[in-house]
Amino acid sequence: MYTSKDIAELLFPEVTITVEELYAKYPKRGLGEGSLVTRFAPSPTGYVHIGGVYQAVINSFLAHSTGGKFMLRIEDTDKKREVEGSADLIYPLLIKMGIKIDEGYVSKEEEIGEYGPYLQSNRTEYYKAFVKDLVSRGLAYPCFCTEEEEEIARNEQKRLSAPSGYHGRWAKCRNLSYEQVKENLDAGKTFKIRIKSDGDQYERVTCNDVLRGEISFIENFVDYVILKSDKTALYHLAHLVDDTLMRTTTVIRDESWLPSVPLHLQLFRYMNLPAPNYLHTAQVMTVDPNTNVVRKISKRYDAWADSRWFFEQGYPTKAIIEYLLTLINSNFEEWRAENPTLPEEDFNLSIEKMSKSGAIFDIEKLNNISKDIISKMNKDTLYSLAYDWAKTYDQKLASLIEKDAEYFKRIINIERESVKPRKDYVTFKDIYSQVEYMYDEYFDNPVVYDFKKITDKETIIELVNEYFNNYFDINDDNTVWFGKIKEMCDKLGYASNIKEYKKNPDNFKGNVADISTVLRVVFTTRSCTPNLYEIMQILGKDELYKRFKFFTENYQN
Ligand code: GLU
Repeated sequence: MYTSKDIAELLFPEVTITVEELYAKYPKRGLGEGSLVTRFAPSPTGYVHIGGVYQAVINSFLAHSTGGKFMLRIEDTDKKREVEGSADLIYPLLIKMGIKIDEGYVSKEEEIGEYGPYLQSNRTEYYKAFVKDLVSRGLAYPCFCTEEEEEIARNEQKRLSAPSGYHGRWAKCRNLSYEQVKENLDAGKTFKIRIKSDGDQYERVTCNDVLRGEISFIENFVDYVILKSDKTALYHLAHLVDDTLMRTTTVIRDESWLPSVPLHLQLFRYMNLPAPNYLHTAQVMTVDPNTNVVRKISKRYDAWADSRWFFEQGYPTKAIIEYLLTLINSNFEEWRAENPTLPEEDFNLSIEKMSKSGAIFDIEKLNNISKDIISKMNKDTLYSLAYDWAKTYDQKLASLIEKDAEYFKRIINIERESVKPRKDYVTFKDIYSQVEYMYDEYFDNPVVYDFKKITDKETIIELVNEYFNNYFDINDDNTVWFGKIKEMCDKLGYASNIKEYKKNPDNFKGNVADISTVLRVVFTTRSCTPNLYEIMQILGKDELYKRFKFFTENYQN
């Protein structure tokens, strides 16, 4: 009399390693109690979705704040969906985001850690060992049904309004004997492996989700495929095997996996293993700009679904991570306000404060955070981050910086490194247009002077000449410099005191702000710039004269 063990041997003669040997090969980690072992497990289907980075941040923070480990596992079992080369983009991207990874897949040539391989396609032997074990204990079986047969069953189920899937009388291969299996194999038929479900559609099973509390589900009563006919694992099996052998304590994944929980619990039970803790996170959503409806982020409509977009746009990684932290934990902003200088890794991400429903991604909010973070950088940090960025994404800015790094630093340092720094740049992309006028070749191209309030050409020319002939001295300090501008105002009939001007505007031709604007426009062509005195100091006497001359020649003609 043959047993299921014989069937297992018949199907997998090449599999010699046992699950016990595998458990021994990957022993329990000697971590302290309460230390979480987590993993981010993306499929290499093109690029890392911003929702993936959100997952990675949660995983990494929870592992690291508990003295645990965070792994990167690449789930490449579905070869049809795989995009060539994309697995190798994931590790560098996460590192660039500033996410600390303790173990995992780095590239085709490199892995870190003792619990690998971390690329699922290199773990086929392990999957087969678990499947062989399940088959040998009668908890899984080979299925020889063809696509067509399954299609016929599906249609029949539809017609009868029966629950869909391989179960009940539709589970034709569920009880094949050793002889029948052998006959099919001898006839050259391919097989897949299905779990032999003991679930009942009228019974329920509960899961205590770390975030959501107790959730009750209908038991799984479908004999799902766990190993495909090409002997690659399906997610459900790979999850069981990998998270067991990698000693994952907490499976943190997107809420779209909730419906699979009954099957996963069943698989762990079949293997006599404790199920890991599950934490199903909210999905990252967006408000559709056209319809105002909250929806999933879509690769088609949202360029920023691709996390590389944030780099291209010049967001500092700190801004991206801090924004994601505000989405993950409602109290992050408060923590940041109380601890403005601490690194974000010091934030204790808490599961209690994690949102259960869709986290709505708001670019405006990200922009505010980014602007704030850039404004607080000192000039050296901003210089080095902006230059790094510019080398890849903004050649024009990179060239300006390369002319003279110190000069560039002086420009970006205007009204920086102070209690209330200027918030000029939302991203590094904004820098070029706000510094270009500080370089003399800017004047190689036609420039437009727009003097705002004062519009009369002759008045403008007279003002500028007056300033250069009677007041300009590069050695003046800020107070003297401004004192002279005021003096010039009084002399020419403009109000040097704004309050007085407001009281009696008709008594004056204009005020000191209008005069400053004229000078600002002559020196920079912009009516709105950071501190004019500092700009003039950086440009220096010769350059200011050059610009005065340029103005005289170009404005008059
Ligand atoms: N590869 C799965 C996905 O990308 C991973 C889910 C999980 O974290 O277990 O959705």
